[in-house]
Amino acid sequence: MVVCRTIKEIRAFVSEARAERASIGFVPTMGYFHEGHLSLMRRARSENDALVISIFVNPMQFGPGEDFAQYPRDIQRDLALAEKVEVDAAFTPDASEMYPEGYCTYIEVEGLSDKLCGRFRPGHFKGVATVVLKLFNIVQPDRAYFGQKDAQQLRVIQRMVEDLNLPVYVVPVPTVREPDGLAMSSRNVYLDSEERRAALVLSRSLLEARRAIEAGELDARKIVDLVRRMIQSEPLVHLEYVEACRFEDLEPVEVISGKVLLALAARVGKARLIDNIIISH
Ligand code: AMP
Repeated sequence: MVVCRTIKEIRAFVSEARAERASIGFVPTMGYFHEGHLSLMRRARSENDALVISIFVNPMQFGPGEDFAQYPRDIQRDLALAEKVEVDAAFTPDASEMYPEGYCTYIEVEGLSDKLCGRFRPGHFKGVATVVLKLFNIVQPDRAYFGQKDAQQLRVIQRMVEDLNLPVYVVPVPTVREPDGLAMSSRNVYLDSEERRAALVLSRSLLEARRAIEAGELDARKIVDLVRRMIQSEPLVHLEYVEACRFEDLEPVEVISGKVLLALAARVGKARLIDNIIISH
């Protein structure tokens, strides 16, 4: 595995792979790997000749007062794990490589970016879309892999790719969970043991919602209320939002029908956690 700290270095790797007509799979990340990240890499490994990942804690997608400075980092451990799943190249730029002085170009995926998490994290998806487009231009992947855990991010990227006719196929990958149901996240390290236990109400409430839908409850408001009530019964968990919306455009729905995203965000101690399920009915 080669580790590239500069755009020039990763471009040299990409040119060589392209010259050999190798297909390139790409997994962008902020590092501090868990099984969720590794599942994206394994999937990409199995579907492409060359596998490139990036590790970059993107300052542009963090708002003032958010956890950019505290975000967990362990680049040596990440590189060892990447090596194990047979990554070919890891791109690990620093912020000045990605945003040199004078940088002033941004991508705004309007509409999709203002909903759900966007209401609580203004500018977040602008930062995500901008860095992902830059990374796509640098790595020129045939396929790029994104977790459904970040469903809104996935939709924003899919929309950007469609709208800007980018020659990359976006592959969604299912959420990987801990054995007790908690969605894996680098931010789970912020939780102490009490908070970790309390946070289980998030996945449990979504599971209950799925059961209720399968039992025939298709009134979206009732489903959302069920989730909200369960979460509000857990004093350590502070719900930011829970919403049922169309997967396509993230517009709220009244009836569970078609492809529906049931998404939530909550604060538990110092952590802001998100989780969701995608229902096809
Ligand atoms: P991050 O490093 O948190 O920005 O995540 C990098 C990629 O891994 C994104 O596409 C995420 O959606 C994906 N990811 C994060 N957590 C999980 C998970 N629990 N299961 C599947 N994919 C995940």
